[in-house]
Amino acid sequence: MLLQAGPLEDLGVLHAFTTRGGGVSAPPFDTLNLGRAAGDDPAAVRENRARALAALGRETSDQVEASQVHGREIAVVTAAHRGQRIRGADGLTSRDPSAVLAMHCADCAPVLVSDPTTGAVAAVHTGWRGTASGAASAAIRTMGEAFGSRPEDLVVAIGPAIGPCCYEVSGEVVEALAPWPWRDAVLRPSLEGRWFLDLWEANRRQIESAGVPPWAITTAGLCTACHPDLFFSHRRSGRTGRMAALIAPLSG
Ligand SMILES: [Zn+2]
Repeated sequence: MLLQAGPLEDLGVLHAFTTRGGGVSAPPFDTLNLGRAAGDDPAAVRENRARALAALGRETSDQVEASQVHGREIAVVTAAHRGQRIRGADGLTSRDPSAVLAMHCADCAPVLVSDPTTGAVAAVHTGWRGTASGAASAAIRTMGEAFGSRPEDLVVAIGPAIGPCCYEVSGEVVEALAPWPWRDAVLRPSLEGRWFLDLWEANRRQIESAGVPPWAITTAGLCTACHPDLFFSHRRSGRTGRMAALIAPLSG
């Protein structure tokens, strides 16, 4: 039900990338759908969320989520936000250990960030729009402004997402990525007017450019579209469920 990133585990950071297993939802949301917006039975989603949070030793009422609009707004979360959904944000950051930050994805790349020095964490949702607009680097900047986090202290895990094997994109995406110096390194030509985008590597490079040491960034390297047994994939299935990336700040 839960995957963990070794470097975050080593730091004792409470976190997980969920898989699609271990829940109660019926097809096409089978079984651990954690997204409320996909059209699933709300009672099933409530039960699934309770199970995922319980697996981390926490409760659904601790969770803070974001409306996820494919932008780059990062909201600073306090204990007062527990149980809420923050509008207009694609990333959350907090230093309050009572909160569990949640991002929901089915192909988009979830990024989890931990600062062992200040205890602060962040969770970010990055599809191609969020990657092009710099959502992951915005999270690193916001952690600096809000908590004094320094990029060189951060440990980052990029979770399961659609891989360079399956993520075919149009010229619009190639255009949107033009400002980034690494653009050509993350695109591979497909048929006429189409490219394969390496969303994992695009985010890794963006996070490295923001000042995080390369050795402190891990990528799951698991393609959501290639593993229907493990993951929901919007690109593969259309109407489907959502996995969650969850993380809680370190306590004092
Ligand atoms: Zn794939």
